[in-house]
Amino acid sequence: MAAVDFTGRCAVVTGGANGIGRATAMRLARHGAKVFVGDLKPLPENERPFAELGIVQRACDVRSEAALCELIDAAVAETARLDILVNNAGIGMVKQITEVTEDDWNACLDTNLKAAFFGCKHAVRHMIPAGGGAIINTASNAGLLPRAHDPVYSISKMALVALTKSLALCHAKDRVRINCVCPGPVGDTGMMNADLAKAADRSQAEAAFIAASPLAKSFGRMISPEEVAEAILYLASDAAMMVTGTAIAIDGGKSLGVPPSG
Ligand code: NAD
Repeated sequence: MAAVDFTGRCAVVTGGANGIGRATAMRLARHGAKVFVGDLKPLPENERPFAELGIVQRACDVRSEAALCELIDAAVAETARLDILVNNAGIGMVKQITEVTEDDWNACLDTNLKAAFFGCKHAVRHMIPAGGGAIINTASNAGLLPRAHDPVYSISKMALVALTKSLALCHAKDRVRINCVCPGPVGDTGMMNADLAKAADRSQAEAAFIAASPLAKSFGRMISPEEVAEAILYLASDAAMMVTGTAIAIDGGKSLGVPPSG
C-alpha cells in the first residue's frame, strides 16, 4: 500500500489519551494530520510527545453531546475543516445481568454507543458541506460475536457496528464514509490492564486472552494498539475511498467461530 498522507487534513480522536486512541492520534499526526484529542482524562505524560507532533489535547466527556460538539467545533475553528473523526472512547463492563445497575447500563451505552452517534452528528454537519469525510468507530470483536462474560459491553459494541452500517448507508450520497474496526485482545491499553489487574492470576488471565484469538495464540502475544491504528489509518485514507459500512476485525480470527481444539 502506498504511504498514507494526511497533510493538510484535520482529525479528531476521542479517547486519544491512552491505548488504541493514542496510537491512532500519533500515527495520524506522523502522517501529516492536524490532530485534536478529546479524553476524559488527558494524561500529563502525553504533553511532550503530543506537542512534538502538534497534537492538541483537551478534556472532553464524550457522554455529553455538548462536550463532543465543542471538541469538534474547536478543531474546525482552528483548521476550517474536519476530514476525519475517530469515535474511539470506550469502557468495559464485565458484569452479569443480575449485577448490572441502571447507572452501569447508562455509563457503558452512553460512552460506547451514544457518544459515537452524536460524534457522527456533529462531524457530518461539517463534512457534508465540505463534500465528504471519513468516520471510524472503534467497536470490538464483541461487536461481531457476543460474549457471555460482558453482555452490556457486547450489546453496546454490536449496536455500534449497526450504527456504523446504518449511518454509512445514509451518508454515502454525501461522500461521508463511516466504518468501524473490531479489535481485541489488545495489549498495552488501559482497558486490558484494568482487566488483568482484577484477575487472581495475571499471567494466567493474559494467557487466556491470547488463547481465545487463533492468531494471537499462534504468535504468542496480544494485538498491539499500533496494529489497530494501522487499520484505522487505512479507513481514514484515500486508499479506502470506496469503502463504507465495513467492520474490519483486527482480532486474530477471534470472531470467526470455534477454533480447533488443542
Ligand atoms: P484505554 O482505556 O487505553 O483507552 C480508552 C480511552 O477512552 C481512555 O483514554 C479513557 O480515558 C477514554 N474514555 C473513557 N471514557 C471516556 C469518556 N466518557 N469521555 C472521553 N474519553 C473517555 O483502552 P483501549 O483498549 O485503547 O480502548 C479504546 C477502544 O477500543 C474502546 O472503545 C474499547 O472498547 C475498544 N476495544 C478495546 C479492546 C482491548 O482489548 N483493549 C478490545 C476491543 C475493543
